[in-house]
Amino acid sequence: MTDHYDLCVIGSGPAGEKGAVQAAYFGKRVVLVEKAPAVGGACVHTGTLPSKTLREAALYVTGFQKRKLYGMTLDIDKQASLRRLMGRLRAVTEQQVSQISQNMRRHEVEVVKGQATFTGPREITVTDGSGAVAGRMLTADRFLIATGSSPHRPPGVPFDDHDVEDSDTILDLDRIPQSLAVVGGGVIGCEYACLFAALGTAITIIEGRSSLMGFLDGEMSERLRSALARGGHRILLGDAVLSIERVVGGPLHIKLKSGQSLEVDKVLYSAGRAGNTGGLGLDRAGVAVDPKARIPVNQHFQTSQPHIYAAGDVIGSPALASVSMEQGRVAMCHAFGIPYKTKVSPLTPYGVYTIPEISMLGATEEELTKQGIPFEVGRAGYDSNARGQITGEQDGALKLLFHTETKRLLGVHMIGDRATELVHIGQMVMCFSGTIDVFIDSVFNFPTLAEIYKYAAYDGLGRLARRTGTTVPPTPAAL
Ligand SMILES: Cc1cc2nc3c(=O)[nH]c(=O)nc-3n(C[C@H](O)[C@H](O)[C@H](O)COP(=O)(O)OP(=O)(O)OC[C@H]3O[C@@H](n4cnc5c(N)ncnc54)[C@H](O)[C@@H]3O)c2cc1C
Repeated sequence: MTDHYDLCVIGSGPAGEKGAVQAAYFGKRVVLVEKAPAVGGACVHTGTLPSKTLREAALYVTGFQKRKLYGMTLDIDKQASLRRLMGRLRAVTEQQVSQISQNMRRHEVEVVKGQATFTGPREITVTDGSGAVAGRMLTADRFLIATGSSPHRPPGVPFDDHDVEDSDTILDLDRIPQSLAVVGGGVIGCEYACLFAALGTAITIIEGRSSLMGFLDGEMSERLRSALARGGHRILLGDAVLSIERVVGGPLHIKLKSGQSLEVDKVLYSAGRAGNTGGLGLDRAGVAVDPKARIPVNQHFQTSQPHIYAAGDVIGSPALASVSMEQGRVAMCHAFGIPYKTKVSPLTPYGVYTIPEISMLGATEEELTKQGIPFEVGRAGYDSNARGQITGEQDGALKLLFHTETKRLLGVHMIGDRATELVHIGQMVMCFSGTIDVFIDSVFNFPTLAEIYKYAAYDGLGRLARRTGTTVPPTPAAL
């Protein structure tokens, strides 16, 4: 028997959940197919929330950020810490699964367990994946493919060794390693490196490029590198892994392109992600796939089959939970002609949960220079902010980039405690095309980290005044 729906969604991660609920909210009959035992996708089970929960728990259990402030040393019971970390992880995961399930129920989205495969452009079968049981047939007017991505496993890396991990398997943690080599200095690699550093693991990051997380403003990337180096960790830039071998009964032995070699307890290989398109039968649906197994879409998130939409990690960059949710909603508004959300905001903040954490919005200094846009920089450090001094935060800083003529805010770059929260102050100003005068004219709570915006703005206007030879910061009318 075949059941017919207005919309069939494949995958219950952020893109699938929000897309399904958006359509259901506007009265559509929606079915969602999920092959994993629980809803939530990589966001809840292997990606965003597990890594952030472990980070928060590690900071609490080890007192990492505060212990120096109060003259305390690190003396943690690693097994007990691991139990607490994993306990917290289970609790948050269960809460999230329950919340997402409730959201589906509230909006009457029917959730079907099993693996979805297209048998034609308007029809899928749902099976248990083994092929042993006949599948249930579902047809729909519209489809949303939100199947996410998985860690890329390059050939030649011995993932069969129980101490060679990717970002999924690292979560099945049996112990806190003494030493860890992180291959790949991207977001996931750097986040896990900082998490384990907080737990007392000796870290080596191996990155082929000349900086960590190349998309960041260069100053912020360098501040993170030096914070890690100050903690005694090794950051090997411009290097690459040639081989990883297990010394029998001993540690893992890594040979590097530079000629160096390392012996470590564990390796985390973080070499990018590939779209989950295998087994979906996309050829039968007439949906094109690119060489990295991602699904190309147009600005409305339509695939090469206009009634089949795709959103989230499966379409590629930026591969963030935050953006995936919006893509799912926008895609479904277009699919059903709902006059609500028409595009994903181009002002996307990036949050990197390293220790210290980093967040950014808008252009970097390198991008503005390349584009020939005239800009000035305003900086302020947490060390000269009253709240920063109280909390003992040393590595924090805010960097604002603004247009020299209009004083419009062009970029916000922040490192330090709560950076991923505080960036939204700059975001609101940028959303309304505001100038950095907004920060000068605003009254901020005192003492707060947020007040740092005012001092970064003063710094920027002071530089601009010096550059233009004026004694007072110029006003927009004067320019
Ligand atoms: C370690 C790590 C940390 C991260 N941290 C952050 C962060 O701090 N902030 C942030 O915004 N993002 C973060 N991300 C990225 C974020 O997790 C992803 O962008 C997000 O989960 C993508 O959502 P999605 O809906 O596209 O796919 P997913 O969340 O991957 O969900 C896809 C779902 O589809 C299901 N599925 C796949 N194929 C089928 C099929 N054939 N039939 C049925 N079901 C199927 C899967 O089982 C899965 O449940 C992180 C990712 C990782 C790995």
